[in-house]
Amino acid sequence: MLADRRTKIVATIGPAVQGRENLKKAIAAGMNVARLNFSHGTHVDHLAVIKDLRALSSELNAPLTVLQDLQGPKIRVGRFENGSIEISEGEKVVVTIRDVLGRKGLIPSDFKALPKSCQPGGRIMFDDGLFELRVDTVETEDIHCTVVYGGILKDRKGMNVPGGELSVECLTPKDLVDLEWGLDNNVDYIALSFVRRGDDIRRLRELIQARGSQARIVAKIEMLEAIDNLEEIVRLSDAVMVARGDLAVEVGQTRLPQIQKQIVSLCNTIGRPVITATQMLDSMTANPRPTRAEITDVANAVLDGSDALMLSAESASGKFPFRAIRTMHDIILEVEKNGDYFYDMRMDAQFSSVADGIGAASALTAMKLNATAIVCLTTSGKTATIISGFRPKARIIAVTHIVPTLNRIELVWGIQTLQIDPYDSSDEAMKQIEEMLLQYGLVKPGDKVILTLGVPVLERGTTNALRVYTIAREDVRRLSESELPLRCRLPSA
Ligand code: PGA
Ligand code: MN
Repeated sequence: MLADRRTKIVATIGPAVQGRENLKKAIAAGMNVARLNFSHGTHVDHLAVIKDLRALSSELNAPLTVLQDLQGPKIRVGRFENGSIEISEGEKVVVTIRDVLGRKGLIPSDFKALPKSCQPGGRIMFDDGLFELRVDTVETEDIHCTVVYGGILKDRKGMNVPGGELSVECLTPKDLVDLEWGLDNNVDYIALSFVRRGDDIRRLRELIQARGSQARIVAKIEMLEAIDNLEEIVRLSDAVMVARGDLAVEVGQTRLPQIQKQIVSLCNTIGRPVITATQMLDSMTANPRPTRAEITDVANAVLDGSDALMLSAESASGKFPFRAIRTMHDIILEVEKNGDYFYDMRMDAQFSSVADGIGAASALTAMKLNATAIVCLTTSGKTATIISGFRPKARIIAVTHIVPTLNRIELVWGIQTLQIDPYDSSDEAMKQIEEMLLQYGLVKPGDKVILTLGVPVLERGTTNALRVYTIAREDVRRLSESELPLRCRLPSA
């Protein structure tokens, strides 16, 4: 079943998967998190997607995280007379902030502070670092450069000035408008692009709180400055993304693998869910099969300790969006199946709360008793997230009647969710849970299950207790395929 996979899949939504039928196929292929990329598309398009996703999620009984990815101060090339120009090695070109249409030898940019960020001898890159210019001289509005690596440069492609101080806020006026929209439409997470320091996260947090929203924050790590301030950023965020597209250009591509491992490991230690993103199955935008390097990249990102892996163009605009999702699913499952060695009990982590203690105890108890599942009665999903951090072999099942919580924690490694009716006692909750686990085929009679809960249950306190149950009922039958929640069904071909 889809729910056997522990590492989650983030799929970027775009023309290739829009429309209700397509989105349904994407969920059935294994999408756990839908990423709406606010670098593209209109509010009308995004709203239609959110409505379809929420409806499908309840129809299929498959919680789904909606992630709004704000564009941030992404520097872009302007437009060209004919949609693109060719730049060739050794050619002299001018990058300008004048409001002009580009043509051969003249590249407009919408980033007004560009001349201040450039220095002679520095570099300007285009299209995720595919093309490169060396800066010769800088004037007030024009930057004179020599092409180092050329090619066909198209309208509106991204630009990077590696190491250049961007004297702009990471929340642009467009982001603020998009953020309002996202909060109005109850997105589960907001991803902040080009984060540089803790204050960037603090500011976004204030804006979200001022609106009384429960939305959580994903910090996209894609700047050199963010690496210098990494620990502070990770601690202030709810989740983190290794945004390898811009990151590779900003830090220098050969440093990327180490930095990826450094970020993932820090997130694992601090207990923040972490997404590894960009070009994971890039060649599948055009081909039905990934390269060997891509298969291995996906596997290694799982082994590094990622909570989730992300597809970008592969799902948004590629030729094989559903196949890309399923391929990612298959690779992850295979890695996870082959050996328990990466279920890493991090008992050395510093405990700071009662929930941390109960989380550690439940993971350890599950291991000692060879329990099938750790069930967390939760309102916010916090305890389940802590338990996920211990990477236990037992299934982690978060149980609540609060739908936004179910959706939000779908992003986190290994967490499955059950929606139950409100309950008055832990025994009453466990009765409902035992029946559902059996009906869904997640446990069998005789299995041990760990339950974490807050006592007294009616006070909705934080988690402070742990109980061990043995599944006793023999009379509950597994539901038929079509009655099961989508992720508990047998995989379709
Ligand atoms: P982007 O972010 O796709 O919004 O640029 C991800 C990345 O930079 O890798
Ligand atoms: Mn980026």
